Amino acid sequence: MEITRAYREAGVSDEVYSFGEKIIGLLKERFEGIDRVAEYNQCKVLNAMRKNKVDVACFAASTGYGYNDLGRDKIEKVYADAFHTEAALVRPQIVCGTHALTVALSANLLPGDELLSVSGKPYDTLEEVIGIRPSKCSLREYGVSYRQVDLLPDGTFDFDGIAAAMGEKTKVIAVQRSKGYQTRPTLSVSQIAEMISFVKKIRPDVLVMVDNCYGEFVEEYEPSDFGADMTVGSLIKNPGGGLAPIGGYIVGTKECVDRCAYRLSAPGLGQEVGASLGVMTSFYQGFFLAPTVVAGALKGAIFAANLYEKLGFRVVPSGAAERYDIIQAVELGSEEKMVAFCKGIQEAAPVDSYVTPIPWDMPGYDSKVIMAAGAFVQGSSIELSADGPVREPYAVYFQGGLTWYHAKLGILLSLQKLYERGLVVLPED
Ligand SMILES: *Cc1c(COP(=O)(O)O)cnc(C)c1O
Repeated sequence: MEITRAYREAGVSDEVYSFGEKIIGLLKERFEGIDRVAEYNQCKVLNAMRKNKVDVACFAASTGYGYNDLGRDKIEKVYADAFHTEAALVRPQIVCGTHALTVALSANLLPGDELLSVSGKPYDTLEEVIGIRPSKCSLREYGVSYRQVDLLPDGTFDFDGIAAAMGEKTKVIAVQRSKGYQTRPTLSVSQIAEMISFVKKIRPDVLVMVDNCYGEFVEEYEPSDFGADMTVGSLIKNPGGGLAPIGGYIVGTKECVDRCAYRLSAPGLGQEVGASLGVMTSFYQGFFLAPTVVAGALKGAIFAANLYEKLGFRVVPSGAAERYDIIQAVELGSEEKMVAFCKGIQEAAPVDSYVTPIPWDMPGYDSKVIMAAGAFVQGSSIELSADGPVREPYAVYFQGGLTWYHAKLGILLSLQKLYERGLVVLPED
């Protein structure tokens, strides 16, 4: 068939291709399940766009102060409706996910208040935001204290620990949905829902903030459907659909989102200012495509898990596990294998395919790091990318893929590189 010739031209040998096809043959039902979730989420997004009468006037660029920017105001209504919240802040002035989380926290925590993380150690970049690692302008410098309750060894919430840690000063409870680059399992929306109702029973006035990065549209529901006061994420991950060139979002109660807007711009100004500078088309179109893009990335993650698991590597989550985010870790066991894997991912990229990834000393890391990415938007991790610290267990974290077929080619080429170097043996049957 023609398709094998196309893969041969792409550098995938017949042996690797047919091994991949065997794995995909076993994943039909999983893929159908993913498509159903995407279909549901597509309706959800379209309903929000139709309800708000999105039209061509929304795509006009505003400049300067950005007063009366209709497209900007409407994208926020669309997000609020899709996430089923009272309000939303969706802005190109939010420069990344860490910034969105920083705005959410610093807007709603005042001196003397305490932040309680109930999913253990937060994402690396938040350590400096909170002041776990001493840092200029951290919440700690402003008199906000911090506590954390680790997840139990099986990765579930420690409800007794949470109840014991909640005190008079506890103002915001933070939870991170995705495992990020830790080895714990990712939390499902239903687990987060249970936690929210638990803490609200103890203290109805406590605010719950969910770091939703990498989780959007993976399930039919979002944490905002279950009473999260703020749900926060990055537009160069899932909800930007690969098209948003920058941005972050915060959806939640009007009270919380108002404060976030005042923190982001200035007290008294809030959501009224902030020019959209011509990015609105990509915000709308990216959000419209996001359910499908996330489905493609999920298929890629599940394919990689099952393919590498079959070859004897440890993969997290396992091939059969339910998915609650788009990240897949593959423990390759040696530097040589990490380099080969990343080389394959890089070669499959639409951008920078000719570049060779090599391990390098990155500031802030205690070992070398290798990264493969060839993205239209710099650093975008909804686009196919792989990276990891070059040390035991030599795990690569793999995520994204704007289309399933790109993710598939990337994974096949990663295996091709391992196979050519004699670093894996393909099963006979
Ligand atoms: C990516 C990510 C962040 C931070 O986002 P940046 O855009 O890299 O600043 C925070 N939390 C989680 C779980 C993430 O995956």
